[in-house]
Amino acid sequence: DRYVLKIANSAESLEFLRLQNELIEFLAGRGLDLQFPRIIPSRSGEHISSIPDPAGQHHFTRLFTWIEGVCLGEIHPHTPRMLASLGRALGQMDAALAGFAHPAAHREFHWDLRAAAGARSCIPALPAARCALVEPWFERWQRIEWERLRSSVIHNDGNDYNVLVNAAGQVVTILDYGDVVYGATVCNLAVALAYVMLGKADPIAAAAQVVSAYHEIFPLNEAEVEALYLLAGMRLCMSVCYAAHQTKAAPGNSYLNISNAPAWALLERLANVPLEWPLQMFRFACGIPLRSPSRVTSDLQDLAERRKRNLGSALSLSYRRPVHMVAASRQYMYDGGGRRYLDCVNNVNHVGHCHPAVVRAAAEQMAILNTNTRYLHETVLEYSARLAATLPPELHVVYLVNSGSEANELALRMARAHTGRSEVIVIEGAYHGNTSSLVDLSPYKFDGPGGRGCPAWVHKVPLPDCYRGLYRGPHTGEAYAPHVAQAVAAGKIAAFFAESAPGCGGQIILPAGYLNQAFAAVRAAGGVCIADEVQTGLGRAGRHFWMFEAAGAIPDIVTLGKPIGNGHPLGAVITTTAIAQSFANGMEYFNTFGGNPVSCAAGLAVLDAIRDEGLQQNALETGDYLLNILRELQGRHAMVGDVRGAGLFLGVELVHDRESREPATREAAEIVERMKDRGVLLSADGPAHNVLKIKPPLVFSQANAAFLAEQLDAGLNQMSEAH
Ligand code: PMP
Repeated sequence: DRYVLKIANSAESLEFLRLQNELIEFLAGRGLDLQFPRIIPSRSGEHISSIPDPAGQHHFTRLFTWIEGVCLGEIHPHTPRMLASLGRALGQMDAALAGFAHPAAHREFHWDLRAAAGARSCIPALPAARCALVEPWFERWQRIEWERLRSSVIHNDGNDYNVLVNAAGQVVTILDYGDVVYGATVCNLAVALAYVMLGKADPIAAAAQVVSAYHEIFPLNEAEVEALYLLAGMRLCMSVCYAAHQTKAAPGNSYLNISNAPAWALLERLANVPLEWPLQMFRFACGIPLRSPSRVTSDLQDLAERRKRNLGSALSLSYRRPVHMVAASRQYMYDGGGRRYLDCVNNVNHVGHCHPAVVRAAAEQMAILNTNTRYLHETVLEYSARLAATLPPELHVVYLVNSGSEANELALRMARAHTGRSEVIVIEGAYHGNTSSLVDLSPYKFDGPGGRGCPAWVHKVPLPDCYRGLYRGPHTGEAYAPHVAQAVAAGKIAAFFAESAPGCGGQIILPAGYLNQAFAAVRAAGGVCIADEVQTGLGRAGRHFWMFEAAGAIPDIVTLGKPIGNGHPLGAVITTTAIAQSFANGMEYFNTFGGNPVSCAAGLAVLDAIRDEGLQQNALETGDYLLNILRELQGRHAMVGDVRGAGLFLGVELVHDRESREPATREAAEIVERMKDRGVLLSADGPAHNVLKIKPPLVFSQANAAFLAEQLDAGLNQMSEAH
């Protein structure tokens, strides 16, 4: 058994030690995902005893149980999950402490960020060259509007040597209650951020990871988000100022300088960071738009009429009462009335709406150079190489375009050039794009309203829908694939186009073995296999970066769009050397915008965000969590016929009757409408428009998933009562 014996400084008051013990016991009783030390009473039953030192001074002592773990400060690097875990730990602690009170916490304390004036008086102890690094922080600190920040008892010392992490990289405890004070709640997070930023390649991004996880558990208000960075910087300044002051008094005490060198290095780096940057990143971390949507006074009726006047009426509007969106951040969109919506359907804003790093990368490049690919330039090379590196090695020749449609158009041309044939196989319900050829390749369109049916050069194969398709059940891949072989035999096939998980077809997860066998049949006849990853690619599948990997097959051409530019128009076609060579037949391929440096800068920033923020892992964990709670919901609602998905690509199929599986089309439209009124954006799709599509930005959290399921539950209940 291991214990920690704490011997207090003789100046420490009994009352304050009692506060610490009470606070530890309070937190331990709150059922947090954290461990807290237990207090071991003395033989006479006291929680606080005392011992004399050789000089006869009495010191209070306390014995605690030992908590296993490694200091965060001793772990390198800090993974996104670890930083998120720290954010959650701090958020849980602050949420719990909002209900804790103790008179001894109301004290004057030199580490209280409100009392930074004390540290300011130590500036003369600093070397002259360094004064300029701290002075601006003190000036900004003076302007903080403390009355706009919430107050509570805070731990106030989440430094990297007080945070213990277990072998799985999760924070298990935050130790040392000697700095507890009643102060501005946000200071607790700010203190931790000061240490999180130490030694990081991108200190602001690392801090933002902690902030977003914290905000999920214990939401910050806008004033707190604004103050956070200033307070974190202030903590660094206090640390270096006090260290300089105390070192003068006790030159041999190396503990006083423990974080001095990294703190100075960080202050030097932060001096070059424009103040708006951390503010933008922290706002994004909390899903608060860059500028708070001021109430926009536009009259919705007027907007609708102007739209009718000048926009083509084939363009549709979502919702019976259309929404006027004016801003967005992360997984949230905001309407003109300032109302926030949880975006569960936008797979374009993949790393979050208006991700500051993507915005900045594109804006900075736009200010320097934007041109076509007829000149040598690094970004197009770097981006193409980074994209290719995510794919199987044979897929490495990249053409950049401006949309998913353009990507599929180019893929079609490549397949035709490679095979010398023109016919194509597509899957029922598929959508591949808006050009003439692609409408011809999209049963979703040619079989739908206004469509003119399947063209002679197109062969349609059944949608491998294990729930309501021709063959039902999980092991139907072998039953569906022969239909592709039949189609191959029926024509001169240039290509087989397949969404790796059909989206418009109703969020279909292809049965195991299907894609691989279908591809084999196509290839055996000399055809080209094209995976349309426009909806599904880039980590959304969770377990895999590409959905075709999840389906267990490798295509000859991959087409990309939607998410890869996070809202900037960007698409890509990636193929093999052989196909690329067939396409390069002498005719130049020119694309004015495809592969321009601005698009590539945006694309690179998206790939960075996926990697640095652990978004594929989040898609996996949050997706699995959401799938489970949606399945529980299915148990409560007869109307939910099927729940399916991979990662953050999910579908909820509504039916009138679980036996007949008659599609509940009208109800799906109605629930989408009701969910919008509840602040949740969804859409309904599939051949019968009865499948709720869930494909949110990958920053979607478990709290968001729980909210979505809760609202869906309530919406379905309300709808069945109304009927
Ligand atoms: N392929 C698929 C699977 C799609 O879902 C879409 C768009 N919904 C496209 C291609 C066309 O992409 P874009 O709208 O960017 O032209």
